[in-house]
Amino acid sequence: VADNIKYKRVLLKLSGEALAGENEKGINPLEIKKVAEEIKEVHDLGVQIAIVVGGGNMWRGVTGAKIGMERAQADYIGMLGTVMNALALQDSLEAIGAPTRVQTAIEMRQIAEPYIRRKAMRHLEKGRIVIFAAGTGSPYFSTDTTAALRASEINADVILMAKNGVDGIYSADPKKDASAVKFDKLTHMDIINKGLSVMDTTASSLSMDNDIPLVVFNMNQHGNIKEVVEGKNIGTTVEG
Ligand code: UDP
Repeated sequence: VADNIKYKRVLLKLSGEALAGENEKGINPLEIKKVAEEIKEVHDLGVQIAIVVGGGNMWRGVTGAKIGMERAQADYIGMLGTVMNALALQDSLEAIGAPTRVQTAIEMRQIAEPYIRRKAMRHLEKGRIVIFAAGTGSPYFSTDTTAALRASEINADVILMAKNGVDGIYSADPKKDASAVKFDKLTHMDIINKGLSVMDTTASSLSMDNDIPLVVFNMNQHGNIKEVVEGKNIGTTVEG
């Protein structure tokens, strides 16, 4: 890895929306191709990349629970959605020559490896991009919590949280509130105390307890992931 690289092993969290594009639902191969190209650029620098994919573009467990479904059952549907996203992203990355492995927290051996921590680390060392799918494998959790968990497990240097069109953490939703101000630096506790909608509190407290930094940045601007791994001060950095 080049000297100017700050984060050598990263855990990239991609929400379902990042793979859906403007309509925010379903899989948009053109959108995924753009994301894959950004990832490949960073991979080419020698950065080890693990990815946790969300599934909000397919289904969210809470939505089902609100209309009377059993929450756990609804959450399993959500986890399966993340697997579809993972396979689409894998397809796109491999099409441009980036070697990948998908590991699922719920076994489905015909299409992906089961999640095995040591194997995942080996893949990373060999330069393969590892995509973690099916969340934690347990209902009542989110893929943000999955990102904090997997980042801790694989000793990632940072969680990179890619946002759609928002360039960091704001005091309020900048799309709705013109007086919203952007934070450059925060602690995980700040996020919990201020109730900022960055990740759920389970994910924040896990990141805090395990001392995992988080960078929230805008994925829609070309070259941004690269700038973040180089330690450039774009987005919001959450530490401590
Ligand atoms: N999910 C779950 N356990 C996990 C991770 C995810 O049950 O460990 C389910 C949950 O129903 C969630 C859905 O999968 O709503 C999709 O994940 P998420 O909402 O985190 O996706 P994102 O918002 O990142 O697109």
